[in-house]
Amino acid sequence: LLGLISHEYFHTWNVKRLKPVEFAPYDYTQENYTRMLWFFEGFTSYYDDQFLLRTSLIDAKTYIRLLSKTINQVQATPGRHQYSVAQASFDAWTRYYRPDENTANATVSYYTKGSLVGLCLDLSLRQCPAEGKATPSLDGVMLRLWQLDRPIEEADIAQALQAEAPGGPPAWTGVRSWAELLQTWVHGTDELPLQSLLGAAGVHWISKPAPLAQRLGVRLGDAGGSLKVQAVMRHSVAESTGLSASDELIALDGWRLRKSDDLALWHHEHQAQSLLICRDQAMLTLTLPVLAAHAQSGQPKGTSGETIALTLAENLDAQTAQRRHQWLKS
Ligand SMILES: [Zn+2]
Repeated sequence: LLGLISHEYFHTWNVKRLKPVEFAPYDYTQENYTRMLWFFEGFTSYYDDQFLLRTSLIDAKTYIRLLSKTINQVQATPGRHQYSVAQASFDAWTRYYRPDENTANATVSYYTKGSLVGLCLDLSLRQCPAEGKATPSLDGVMLRLWQLDRPIEEADIAQALQAEAPGGPPAWTGVRSWAELLQTWVHGTDELPLQSLLGAAGVHWISKPAPLAQRLGVRLGDAGGSLKVQAVMRHSVAESTGLSASDELIALDGWRLRKSDDLALWHHEHQAQSLLICRDQAMLTLTLPVLAAHAQSGQPKGTSGETIALTLAENLDAQTAQRRHQWLKS
């Protein structure tokens, strides 16, 4: 709840005062389209937890735990391979606010992924030379945008980034200007360089196998004692097995399934199993393939088969320690 209050409070600045040109003036009588919700909602989402940290309502450990949750949410969304946050923003009225069983495949959240774009920009800026004043950061960019005192568009964000760090993005990004970097992260679908950026900020990234349902690429619900498929992820094992949304999972190798946990209980890593399901009152037997072999077959990955955890790294060199201290006060 604190996060929500912090989020909505920050909107007083970001959206009410700073707003996209498309929202000026805002016409409340119809749907308003903008490609910039990754900034207005995403960056607000980045700052909501940042403010809880800065006001000491949460500590750095809690902060990076919240961050790992956001990262895992995005990694579990196959739609990120098809949709950029700019597209997701533009389609908010037709997709994000009208979710169905295909939403995870068909879009990506401009809140969560937008906040990670904010994080990546902030950490990249913090790698840039200080040039006589304070270390560049996203705070400085927000301040520059604020000082424009007018509705903004993407070019304004690129200019504010350039003014904050005139030398351009760090060399490892492979691009020369912040505008190009925005193009890649905001309008592209490549994975964000989260692991390396967090590493350079003294945060350790640990990956481990995701829960079984995520590795299968399926979202399940088990209300009322029956286990039902809510969504099937694109390019997943569940998809190639032939599962569809609203199928009821009845039994695995003859063992009754009623709760999500039952699936892991009867699941076998190293052999194919028969899966009895009920679809539109008809019983069907599907074959669940060996998961391990599937992971190596190299087909395009929809959801990530891994979840990550973040920890504060120890024994940092002086530069990394200072960078983390400026970012996390820890
Ligand atoms: Zn919001």
